[in-house]
Amino acid sequence: MGPLVATTMTRCISCTRCVRFTTEVAGITQMGQTGRGEDSEITSYLNMTLDSNLQGNIIDLCPVGALTSKPYAFTARPWELTKTESIDVMDALGSNIRIDSKGREVMRILPRNHDGVNEEWISDKTRFIWDGLRRQRLDTPYIRENGKLRKAGWGEALTAAAAAMSGKKVVGLVGDLAPVEAAYSLKTVVEALGGTVECRTDGAHLPIGNRSGYVGTATIEDIDGADAILLVGTNPRVEAAVLNARIRKAWLRGARIGLVGEAVDLTYDYFHVGTDRAALASLLKQDVSGLAGKKTLVIVGQGALSEADGAAVLALTQQIGAMTSAGLLILHTAAGRVGAMDVGAVTEGGLAVATEGAEVIYNLGADEVEIAAGPFVIYQGSHGDRGANRADIILPAAAWTEENGLFVNTEGRPQLAFRAGFAPGEAKENWAILRALSAELGAALPWDSLAGLRAALVAAHPHLGKIDEVAENQWQALPPKAPAKATFRNAIKDFYLTNPIARASAVMAELSALAAARAAQPLAAE
Ligand code: SF4
Repeated sequence: MGPLVATTMTRCISCTRCVRFTTEVAGITQMGQTGRGEDSEITSYLNMTLDSNLQGNIIDLCPVGALTSKPYAFTARPWELTKTESIDVMDALGSNIRIDSKGREVMRILPRNHDGVNEEWISDKTRFIWDGLRRQRLDTPYIRENGKLRKAGWGEALTAAAAAMSGKKVVGLVGDLAPVEAAYSLKTVVEALGGTVECRTDGAHLPIGNRSGYVGTATIEDIDGADAILLVGTNPRVEAAVLNARIRKAWLRGARIGLVGEAVDLTYDYFHVGTDRAALASLLKQDVSGLAGKKTLVIVGQGALSEADGAAVLALTQQIGAMTSAGLLILHTAAGRVGAMDVGAVTEGGLAVATEGAEVIYNLGADEVEIAAGPFVIYQGSHGDRGANRADIILPAAAWTEENGLFVNTEGRPQLAFRAGFAPGEAKENWAILRALSAELGAALPWDSLAGLRAALVAAHPHLGKIDEVAENQWQALPPKAPAKATFRNAIKDFYLTNPIARASAVMAELSALAAARAAQPLAAE
């Protein structure tokens, strides 16, 4: 069944749980029981690999171990593993997970039940990403000299970073996987130098200080009771695969789904309103009397907000939602984005304004952004990815499984991720690096422990202390503006390669190649 699920079908008792999951929850019809009597067999049709980014869940629900995890099989015994309950960061859903580790290696990742977030499912990227935690790791500081990076000690690297930042126009970029503590520390350090920080590195026009605009007013659980759902500029199947399964569940129950944006296979039927801003605006003229008294929901993707007219699109979407008193859910793709927005790691005017004239860019794991030649770049992150390539100084940091961290999910729910192992080599926890750097700069941050940092964070932003609670956001309408004449483009092109950990994973690379080959295959009618 492909690179993820190993089969030992002599164990199969034909309970069809796997078939019912793939058909009913994942929404693909590529698996079933073929033959009759003693020839009956559970298999994928035409022996094809399954085209679903939720297929790993069949490993958990097979009652007899006929379906097992191919990357994990025969690598460890369950009783050897240390189990750590944590949070996923592969998308912004904040799926509850358990990380099983042996020594400092993560051996597997399993789902934990949370009815308000991921129910009992996780995506394949969440489940199988762990080999990416072992590859391409930054395990020692580096300093660029004569165009080449050379290894350095922590003392030397921090002194060089502080010297480069002092008296300069410094801009801090907050990456997609940064925990709130790191974003808050970076903001405090950079603003003390007179600089600014920005977390909207994809250019998303998320309104500053308006939580109803950058988080929304609805919860993930609201999907369950919705009678009508409008998707705007998003493909939730790749942006939040588990959330898409929830929308499918609502559709199976009878909810009507509409989509404005790229027409893609979402595993359920929907009414395609159109692909551009004009189609979205046309909804303002619709007769919505049929929706009176019904529960409605509008889900907006980052693709809709990342173009130059993102603010106008968001305002228009708010207007459309207001016609039916719909709940609004901003579907983020970055696990660290809402938390960074919450602590104000933003610059008025966005990324372009923030980086204009920057002499030094402090890049906190922002690997999805291109930094033009010119500014001196200090990169703090876990993987030798795009950000490290452009860096003049590299400060190696822990990945999310190697430090305790707070993340706020797409609906605004703060959740805690816990350390499941130690970072490799000389790599340090993100907040600790920034604390050491601040001391080197002569303006030490007023905390010297994670507990102290969290106390300061919660004092400044009390809602972040209410773990697992979704704060109600006060509705604030944005001023209406005319959007551009343009079509919507979705935020994610390749589900499997969205962050540096995924790009380091051999399993994700194989899945990405398989998906590309499948997409290139001509259909029978072609
Ligand atoms: Fe067979 Fe396992 Fe599928 Fe049940 S879940 S049909 S036992 S492979």
